[in-house]
Amino acid sequence: MSGHTWRRALVTGGAGFVGSHLCARLLDAGTGVVCVDNLATGSHGNVAELESRRGFRFVRADATDPEAMRGLPGGFDLVLHFACPASPADYLRLPLATLDVGSTGTRNALERARVDGARFVLASTSEVYGDPLEHPQHEGYWGNVNPIGPRSVYDESKRFAEALVTAHRTVHGTDTAIVRIFNTYGPRMRTGDGRAVPTFVAQALDGLPLTVAGDGSQTRSLCYVDDTVDGVLALAASEEAGPVNIGGSDEITVLELAHRIVELTGSTSRIRFVDRPVDDPGRRRPDTRLARERLGWQPRVNWTEGLERTIGWFARAAAA
Ligand code: NAD
Repeated sequence: MSGHTWRRALVTGGAGFVGSHLCARLLDAGTGVVCVDNLATGSHGNVAELESRRGFRFVRADATDPEAMRGLPGGFDLVLHFACPASPADYLRLPLATLDVGSTGTRNALERARVDGARFVLASTSEVYGDPLEHPQHEGYWGNVNPIGPRSVYDESKRFAEALVTAHRTVHGTDTAIVRIFNTYGPRMRTGDGRAVPTFVAQALDGLPLTVAGDGSQTRSLCYVDDTVDGVLALAASEEAGPVNIGGSDEITVLELAHRIVELTGSTSRIRFVDRPVDDPGRRRPDTRLARERLGWQPRVNWTEGLERTIGWFARAAAA
């Protein structure tokens, strides 16, 4: 992580998968953390260990509630806006809430940053590129999103949030940054959230068939959560406005991922092919040149190491 430290950070969505890792890392660096989460898709268990640490406070509140956001104990010098259902299973179940947190939630978090004079980082996503017609995806690509497809609630929510952040910077001079995060994996993902890594790991550990969508030839570039957190904090510590892509550089097919997980778990599971979701992107690989050149960031945890750590965590969680 960069040497930069903050006095006090607000992390919306801090009880989620990525948010809880961010909260822990900030506390490690001596930053006080207020974690705001409505637990729509996160869980208190993700931050339970942090509650005994000095400088951490969990507030159960909705980022779309302006009074709750205004009423937080102030003095933030960093606002990380990570609140948003992120897995397809979640945002398809919560379509309106997903649009609300990208619009009203982002607006409230931006206002909080403006009032406190804090640096603001929006967690955006590779999904703003939709089913990309350019490969790999660099930050100058505008994307290929179906605005009325089922996934649009997430993609367009983030695209609108990016527009809002940009307008806030222009109108109010808010010190903003946008990070476009590509698929991230690691401990504290939920097995039922529909994302490939936790689904395959849970299936492999249970000896069940791994359910691969379509023929599994669609690609993903996965990044281990510690590397994603490094990238987010490097961007926060910089003066860059972004958007900046943060993601893994090894592109593999979903079928290859399933085979690797079977191998690393030592499972006897087989592969079962299931229907591919509507508008599921065919290819995904970030161009991370900007992050390398401007932030000095690149992923450090390789596939085998990251998957082994993740599998170990899931195995321990299942045994607990
Ligand atoms: P997650 O679902 O585990 O975490 C999201 C958190 O936000 C949850 O704790 C949820 O309860 C909370 N939340 C949702 N709506 C809220 C609201 N209105 N008010 C307060 N809290 C609310 O998802 P994640 O994978 O940790 O993703 C975190 C952020 O990173 C999201 O903004 C997501 O879009 C972005 N992102 C994640 C990935 C990834 O691969 N994990 C990739 C791209 C972008």
